Amino acid sequence: MLISVIVPCYNEEEVLPFFYEKILEVTDKMTEKYGCEFEFLFINDGSKDKTLLLLRKYNEADKRFKYISFSRNFGKESAIYAGLQNCRGDYAVLLDADLQHPPERIPEMYEAVVNNDYDCAATRRVSRQGDSKVLAFFSDSFYKINNKISNTDIKGGAQDFRFMTRQMVDAILSMSEYSRFSKGIFSWVGFNTKYIEVENTARKAGKSNWNFWKLLSYSIDGFTGFSTAPLRLASILGIAACIAAVVAAIIYLVRYIVTGETAGGFYTLMCTVLLFGGLQLLCIGILGEYLSKTYLETKRRPIYIVKESKL
Ligand code: UDP
Ligand code: MG
Repeated sequence: MLISVIVPCYNEEEVLPFFYEKILEVTDKMTEKYGCEFEFLFINDGSKDKTLLLLRKYNEADKRFKYISFSRNFGKESAIYAGLQNCRGDYAVLLDADLQHPPERIPEMYEAVVNNDYDCAATRRVSRQGDSKVLAFFSDSFYKINNKISNTDIKGGAQDFRFMTRQMVDAILSMSEYSRFSKGIFSWVGFNTKYIEVENTARKAGKSNWNFWKLLSYSIDGFTGFSTAPLRLASILGIAACIAAVVAAIIYLVRYIVTGETAGGFYTLMCTVLLFGGLQLLCIGILGEYLSKTYLETKRRPIYIVKESKL
């Protein structure tokens, strides 16, 4: 039985040596205990540091360490896709290079999938220690809104640290869309997933590539990738505005007949114009989001381009 360990890496020279040591320690123990074999597939996502040199070195020393190096930075989602596409294992484990996904949890995941009836085991973060409160708030709101408007429920705090069967890997690969939102894809394909609760661990070294704007754009990808509900917003707002207009017209008319007072006011007029101007732009923006996604999908561009690989 072969297990593929897939690791996306972007500028991880500082942490890779720690990861290398740790993953070998864990997997050697597993080979001893369960008799399973491993291959390690690193995806160098256009790193600008010495990540690729390290990967070459690992490959020289041990042929089980394989790598694919992209021609530029394509993003973690593309790296995950490349890893799944090129792995040969009966099972695949996906984890980050920065040791935020503790390799010592892999045996637990192995037990759940290989010895129990699960198709996938994933970790779920239960604590938020070390994270910014603001980001945590936005991230929680994302899950809440997403699960309301979309048919694809995403478990709050679920991570990309996953152990899955070949069958599930093939299901994920069959979704060859260009704008990839893995959290949604993992959930969309279905299968039985066991969630293993973990504490938040800080990065071992190096720094994260996320900031507020990247997270915002990532969550918009999430909404638009798995739900068309936002498109309905325009119709709902339109109907609400029509009803409000009729009610207001009746109120002003009745008031004029009873008291002789005409409706006046620059202030109310300004507010109404601004409000509806804003809502119209918002709805056009939402349309634009979907249109741009459709535009990019129809171009059928490759999800990644390989410059060098040792498989
Ligand atoms: N990563 C990648 N391409 C990118 C950004 C990140 O392959 O463009 C990898 C990175 O090397 C790491 C994982 O994705 O192994 C998670 O990245 P990071 O630690 O920056 O994200 P966070 O843990 O903060 O969500
Ligand atoms: Mg990280």
